[in-house]
Amino acid sequence: MSQDAPDSKYICDVCGRHFYTADNHILHRGIRHPAVMTKDEQNAYREAYSTEEAAIRSFRIRALGVLVVLYFGFLFLYVLYAS
Ligand SMILES: [Zn+2]
Repeated sequence: MSQDAPDSKYICDVCGRHFYTADNHILHRGIRHPAVMTKDEQNAYREAYSTEEAAIRSFRIRALGVLVVLYFGFLFLYVLYAS
């Protein structure tokens, strides 16, 4: 996702940045160049944004679950072996 990626096929026509996926391209346009977006691009941006937001929310919940398991796992190990 850098300008040095020659085989990426999504290129921002405003700043020339290259992207490998359409979602990354439309998210970039929605964040960096919202004034030059068409209605279709705005709708695609909203859809991509909500999809990414759901993925981030899911990741946060799973990460919190892992931290809770690690915390209580080490707590039980401490109780069993250190006391
Ligand atoms: Zn751009």
